[in-house]
Formats: sequence, structure tokens, C-alpha cells
Amino acid sequence: MSSDGDHPRPWETQRRGMMLLVSSPAGAGKTSLSRRLVADHGDLMLSISCTTRAPRPGEEEGREYFFIDRDTFKARIDAGEFLEWAEVNGNLYGTPKAPVMAALEGGHDVLFDIDWQGAAQVQAKAPDDSVKVFILPPSWSDLARRLHARAQDSEEVITKRLILGREEITHWAEYDYVIVNKNFDRAYADLGHIYRAERMKPGRNPWLPDFVKGLGEEE
Ligand code: 5GP
Repeated sequence: MSSDGDHPRPWETQRRGMMLLVSSPAGAGKTSLSRRLVADHGDLMLSISCTTRAPRPGEEEGREYFFIDRDTFKARIDAGEFLEWAEVNGNLYGTPKAPVMAALEGGHDVLFDIDWQGAAQVQAKAPDDSVKVFILPPSWSDLARRLHARAQDSEEVITKRLILGREEITHWAEYDYVIVNKNFDRAYADLGHIYRAERMKPGRNPWLPDFVKGLGEEE
């Protein structure tokens, strides 16, 4: 952390964390964009969801998801452990509440890679603290090409994901921001601009009133 003399600057310690909710159909680049934004911003943490779906090749427990069975998932719903949860394509997905709350209380921001149902639930619970971003593909054929190129799924699963993607896209207008991911670097820059601008909202910076009061005292 950089500091002003011996003291951290107020904006380094007194921020109000926000939730950045990113949705898109599978294959639109949401996961790559999200993970890069988190890697480039020390104050931004990625929320790791629980899911009942099986791991795909290359996925690791605790990195992409916490993989749990349906009974465990349901017990966690009953225990109120999820901030939100939804059924997507026959599998359950949910956001564990405790790590998100801890991050926000510590003044950190949290990025969620979740579907439209989950994003709507979080925004309804915390409208002042959440920002929703939707990533669109440049075309249907591009989406299909990207799903085939990553070669993680069978033809049948890809077809299902494309059908589900069409349904996900019908919710684009419910979002605060929409990015068309035609060019990854440009889409990434746009996502970064949205994130940084949202961080500068007065309500997310409770140190501002005292800072402004103190402006005159320095002369
Ligand atoms: P996938 O199985 O391809 O990793 O994810 C399928 C969909 O579930 C994606 O749209 C993804 O964003 C969404 N998803 C992942 N985690 C969560 C979660 O915790 N809650 C909700 N509501 N959706 C999630």
C-alpha cells in the first residue's frame, strides 16, 4: 500500500466495497474478462460459487467452483449460507455469503460471475452496493465458434449451452452496463473503465466529507 508520510491515505482504508455482477451467455468471454480484472486490481476479489455440476477438464476445487452434491447444497440453502442461488441448466449454483460479507466489510470489492437470476437477487438485496454488467457476443455464430474452440464440452452440451445463452441474453436490458465483446482488449478496457468510475461514486467513499472539510485547514 502506498502511503502519505506514515499514514495511509483515507481512500486506501475507508472505502465502501461494492459488488460487480457480471453475466453473459457461456462463450461470450465473461470468465476471461472477470478473472483478468480481478488479477489487475488488488482491491477486487472474485466470489467463488458452489455448484452441483461436475468439474470440467482442467477445473480445480476452490478455484473455479466448490463442487458439492445436491443434498449438501440444499442443506446450505436451509442454513441461509447463500447470498443468492439459482438453478441453471439443471444444476444448482450459489454464492457463499460469508466471504463476500467479510470482503465488503474490509472495504474490498467483489466480482461475481453469475447468471441473470443471481445478479437480480443480489441487486434486489443491496441496490446501492451492486453494479450489473452484461457481456454480449458480437454474433450467434461467434458464440458457437468460441464454445467449440474451447473443446470442453460435447456437441450435445454445446447445443444446450447455446439454447440457454439465448435465454440469458433476453435479460440484457436489466443491466446497468452492456459490453459487446468483439475485441477482447477493448472489452477489457471498457470493463475496467466501468469498474473504476463506479469506485468514484461519492457513496462508495465515506472519507470524502472529512477530506473536503480538511481541505481548508491545510493552508
Ligand atoms: P458454468 O456451468 O458454465 O460454469 O456456469 C453456468 C452459468 O451459471 C453461468 O452463467 C454462470 O455465470 C452461472 N453461475 C455460476 N456461479 C453462479 C452462482 O453462484 N449463482 C448463480 N446464480 N449463477 C452462477
